[in-house]
Amino acid sequence: MSVDPGVGSDQSVPAAHIDCLTGLPDRQAALRLVQEQVRHARSHGVPLALLWIDVDRFETVNYSVGHAGGDQLVLETARRVRNAFRDWGDLARLGADEFLLVLPGATRATSAQVAQNLLEVMLEPVPIEGFTVRRTVSIGIALLNDPNESPGDFLLRADKAKAVAKRRGGNTYAQSGEPQIDEGFSLAREELEIEALLLRAMNHRCVGLHYQPIVRIDGSLDAVEGLLRCTIDGKTIPPGQLIPVAEKTGLIHRLGAITMMEGIRTACRLRAAGLELKVAVNVSRAQLLEEDFLPDLHAALACTDLSPQFLELELTESMFLDTAAIVQRNIAGAVDCGVRLAIDDFGTGYSSLATLKDVPATKLKLDKSFIDVLPDDEKALAVVKAMTGLGHELGMTVVAEGVETEAQSRCLGEIGVDALQGYFFARPMPIEEIFKWVASTRGQIHVYI
Ligand code: C2E
Ligand code: CA
Ligand code: CA
Repeated sequence: MSVDPGVGSDQSVPAAHIDCLTGLPDRQAALRLVQEQVRHARSHGVPLALLWIDVDRFETVNYSVGHAGGDQLVLETARRVRNAFRDWGDLARLGADEFLLVLPGATRATSAQVAQNLLEVMLEPVPIEGFTVRRTVSIGIALLNDPNESPGDFLLRADKAKAVAKRRGGNTYAQSGEPQIDEGFSLAREELEIEALLLRAMNHRCVGLHYQPIVRIDGSLDAVEGLLRCTIDGKTIPPGQLIPVAEKTGLIHRLGAITMMEGIRTACRLRAAGLELKVAVNVSRAQLLEEDFLPDLHAALACTDLSPQFLELELTESMFLDTAAIVQRNIAGAVDCGVRLAIDDFGTGYSSLATLKDVPATKLKLDKSFIDVLPDDEKALAVVKAMTGLGHELGMTVVAEGVETEAQSRCLGEIGVDALQGYFFARPMPIEEIFKWVASTRGQIHVYI
């Protein structure tokens, strides 16, 4: 398969130097092209710019959708660059996921504008083998200025500028010669490592949920919350590190589908064991931005005979107040299909309390930061009382998160909170252990009030 014949724009390139996947000039042909253009620019006294374009995290596409998928992504990248600049410049393929755009006549300002346009056209997701792949690019720009510089060194400057763009985290461009800011270097590297680990973990079924009980004040069990656990090569990546990377790279959709399905299966297993327990699953904003969210939820529920009210989705307060239409449609659709919604980490957002009246949640989870300082902090006590009262007024069940001590448990009971969750009762544990833990409580947990 190759891109349309218009892609390989230079008819003078010998067939041996045409890349057979894309139909573009290959690396060697690109070098010759740069030599010619440098000669031409110098003799006519006109500017010349090189843009070195490199797909971010390309290797992870190969991991997740295989080499055929990788080829598709390369083709699509070539097609988009070509379409954006059909009548201008030459495009060549330098390596697996690297391209060179040679722009005669381009100044510093124009090449920056071109790079910005390219970043934008790349943002559109690419459907590959049933997955929606989002890939950004990093672009390095070099402008011809030194009359004695060799074409090879000119190219090298574009390559180095591209490396700077990568170190800034990708999805950006850098110009050769500009001050090189290296902040974010370790972050980008760490993110790449996490992304690769997460991909392998998903492919090897090393991601799953652990469950933490939510205990009612009367000592009965209300629900278990599924919390993501990922261990691969002896390394455990905490969800706090994993989720942001998954969101940034688009992996959150596969991850969300995994956690949703596992949560639903667990709810079915609990029901089959005679336990009427809800299972809560955390949902991130990136999931709610997807058109597929509702169809996936319906499909996951349809695969089992679980009554939807046994599934609870935990969303932070800012998601409920999100102005994106798709987020609101997904939230309303989830309510329509009968699943319960909970407001997670309540009190940490900046929403006005008045807006809460319109939130279709049945549960309010008070953030751990308020509970940590109980019972001594009188101001926190007053806030927890007020939030509990408000939750009740709005007909919601109020849960306190992160309960670690008997004193906190007593205090929250006195305030009138409905249920508690925290290490004081149990840490998150694998599903088999949850069954044992539930059996050991014989249906009654000691809440100390
Ligand atoms: P969260 O939803 O607020 O989950 C509660 C976090 O507090 C969990 O951390 C839990 O292990 C921890 N925790 C519970 N009780 C106590 C306690 O008594 N003391 C202390 N110190 N910690 C307690 P974890 O598992 O590390 O998860 C962190 C966050 O990552 C979660 O906060 C949630 O926002 C996110 N997360 C976890 N799993 C998923 C998931 O499957 N999908 C999404 N989108 N986010 C997830
Ligand atoms: Ca949660
Ligand atoms: Ca929480």
